[in-house]
Amino acid sequence: MNPLSLVDLHLHSSASDGVLDPAALVAHAAGCGVRFMALTDHDTVAGLDQAAAAAKSLGVILVAGVELSADWRGRTLHVLGLAFDPLAAPLAGGLLQLQATRQERALQIAARLDAAGAPGNAAHALVRGAGRLPTRMHFARALVTLGAARDITTAFDRWLARGRPGYFAAKWPSLAEVTGWIVAAGGSAVIAHPMRYPLSGGARRELCAEFAAAGGRGIEVITGGGGIRNADQAISLAIRCGLEGSVGSDFHDPAIPWNPPGRLAKLPGSVRPVWSGPPFPEFETDAEPA
Ligand code: AMP
Ligand code: MN
Ligand code: MN
Ligand code: MN
Repeated sequence: MNPLSLVDLHLHSSASDGVLDPAALVAHAAGCGVRFMALTDHDTVAGLDQAAAAAKSLGVILVAGVELSADWRGRTLHVLGLAFDPLAAPLAGGLLQLQATRQERALQIAARLDAAGAPGNAAHALVRGAGRLPTRMHFARALVTLGAARDITTAFDRWLARGRPGYFAAKWPSLAEVTGWIVAAGGSAVIAHPMRYPLSGGARRELCAEFAAAGGRGIEVITGGGGIRNADQAISLAIRCGLEGSVGSDFHDPAIPWNPPGRLAKLPGSVRPVWSGPPFPEFETDAEPA
């Protein structure tokens, strides 16, 4: 049984592929007991101002956040930027590059879906109409709306996952490059959901070593839906690689009841919380005994 966590440093709003707008997301997280949070939309900080205003009125501590797409050895990884200056120039430039890559990738996904007999351009029109930075999640929802898939999982399995007809391998910037943007903006960089990537144990340790060498601070040890076994492995990985630990639900949608904000195990005492000390504001949490 996972106790509620006061801390949740991985949440999505409608600025990317979350369902709630930034203010509603902060209110929902606060209602779930979260007191210290980061809004981490995919490759955009567009929701941060609205989230900050809501957090202030609700007495929630909100730090700047983003989930950046990156390439490591030909795989796509996600790097969380936390507690950075959103106006810092290298990061702002990096975000523009990532946003252009996402828009171009959306065109490619639409064309590939059409070529495979799915309503790709119609889906793209729906995605564009929403006016948000496009993700595959938006395409999945559009394919469901258009009757080309029964549900989101089927849309990914049939059309959008790697190796499926609508997949397009975007050229994301390297892990070291995106990590450098976050560090230069005064933030902490964290590898999101490290056990979700299909890597061998050895490759995962090399990833962490390269990440630390590039200025990375931590890995997401406790992640929504990650399970105890993944958490245990991520704890060992953090200790072995000298990285700090983060906790985040990766919340997208209140209609998915098994992954609400803040339903996360506490970090064990053996891993230093990434949010203890600068650049994060002060916040006291008790660790679980190691
Ligand atoms: P993108 O970054 O555009 O490739 O989109 C990735 C997002 O799609 C992830 O952050 C998840 O929210 C979602 N996603 C990826 N794979 C799946 C899947 N198999 N089932 C449901 N959602 C998924
Ligand atoms: Mn997502
Ligand atoms: Mn992710
Ligand atoms: Mn995420």
